[in-house]
Formats: sequence, C-alpha cells, structure tokens
Amino acid sequence: MAEQLTGEPMGVAEQVSHIKQRIAAAAHKARRSPDEVTLVAVTKYATAQQIHELIAAGVRDLGESRVQQMQSHIDEVNGWLAGAASSGAALPAPRELRWHMIGHLQRNKANQAISLACCIHSIDSLRIAEEINELAARLDQPVKVLMEVNTSGEASKFGVSVPAATHLCEQIETMGNLSLVGLMTMAPQTDDPEKARYCFGLLRELFEEIRFHKMAGEQFEHLSMGMSGDFEAAIEEGATMVRIGTALFGPPPTQSPAESPGNATKSA
Ligand SMILES: *Cc1c(COP(=O)(O)O)cnc(C)c1O
Repeated sequence: MAEQLTGEPMGVAEQVSHIKQRIAAAAHKARRSPDEVTLVAVTKYATAQQIHELIAAGVRDLGESRVQQMQSHIDEVNGWLAGAASSGAALPAPRELRWHMIGHLQRNKANQAISLACCIHSIDSLRIAEEINELAARLDQPVKVLMEVNTSGEASKFGVSVPAATHLCEQIETMGNLSLVGLMTMAPQTDDPEKARYCFGLLRELFEEIRFHKMAGEQFEHLSMGMSGDFEAAIEEGATMVRIGTALFGPPPTQSPAESPGNATKSA
C-alpha cells in the first residue's frame, strides 16, 4: 500500500483518488477520455469498514470473485446503508451499487449470481452460458455477460482459448436471455508489464474481429482487463473496465487456499 510522507498508510478514500489519477494519466497517454474507463473495486479481501469508505468515496462498481462472498458483502453493505439513511448521510441507495461477478462461476451458483450481480465477467464455456440463459428466462431483461478469454494460454487460468473464442461468441449471441457486452481476460502474474500488454493487445484484437464481422450486437463494447499490477498497460490497450483490489485495500491477508475467496486461478 502506498504511504504518505508521515509514514501512515493511506486511507481508502486517498487510495481511490490516487488510483483515479493513475487511470486518468494512462487514458490521456493513450489519447482516450478517462470517462471511458470504469474502476471496478475488487472487494473480495476488503473489510466491511474499507467497503464503507470506498462507497463513501463515490465508488459504485464493486467486484467479487465468489458468489457467497458477494452475498455476505451485499447483506452487510445494505444493512449499513439502511442504518446510514436514517442518519441523513449522503450515501447511495443499495440499488445504485453495481456488483460485478468477476470469478469463475459454478453452475450450482449461477442462479444466485444472476440475482445479485449487474453483470458476469466470467462466461468461459457453452455449458455455463446455457445454464444462465435458461435461468434468466424468468427475468425482465437479459443478463449482461462478458466472455472470459485465456489470452496467456496458461493451464492455471480460466477462460475460453483464443482459437475457440469467436465460436463461443456466436453461440452466446444466439441466446435470447443473454446480452454479450464484452470480453474479459487476466494477464499472467509477472513483473514484466510487456507480457501483460501482449495479452491485453490480443484481447483487443479479438474484440475488433468480433465487431468487424458483426458476431455480436451494438451492446458489445467492453474490455474488462487490468488489475493492480498492470492496469495502466490495459488502459493503453483499450480497457473499459479495470478490476483493482490490492492497490486499493492493501495485500490480501495470508490464508490457506481453502479459505481464500480469490479463485481467479484453477486449483489442482
Ligand atoms: C482478485 C481479482 C482481481 C483483483 O486483483 P488485484 O491484483 O488485487 O488488483 C481482478 N480480477 C479478478 C478476476 C480477481 O479474481
């Protein structure tokens, strides 16, 4: 976590403004408007107090990688907002918050996910797409989804392979209760930002190919890519949503893998 001159760790509000400045600088460098890039704050390791500070600082998009964790954070936040509303504080209504499902989704959690999340970033197979499409039939509007692509080719990563991506995209497009709004990827964990940039560039090329061949509709406009260590490169390559946890809240607590809510990578 970045520190102030006094040596005190920055609070969440300061981190938010610091990250927003970095987002704006990366956008300007790429001759893009900072308004094109949404900060999705990944709250999977954040404390309740940190999430309150985040919302008070104006962040409205929150990302979770596990459905159970999303449910418990939503319950906690909505309870807090209900209490704060009676005290007259200037805070949003619960429905003004957008909770993004960013982690791998199991079929038995799909129903809960679509009732909680504004969109699902992690559609990585025909099976999960079909499951959500069936469950979404009862909803008033299509479920917004992004297709997750494994641009690094690492076996540990979720996501459809690059060669299979356009075919899955066409299949999703035939599903009446899904709205395919974009693509998502995760770059490899490395100290080399150029490796990450390569993955982001690959995702953008795929995105442009899908648009060029009109494999997806007008609503297909998002590139969800970039995390704490690589979001500036992602913005330069066209990201419209960056998913940032550690840079806002500090490093995750050390936990055994079984307890960890981070499931961005496959476990053996
Ligand atoms: C945890 C997670 C993030 C945030 O990662 P940081 O490095 O903490 O910013 C982003 N995307 C996904 C899918 C995640 O699981």
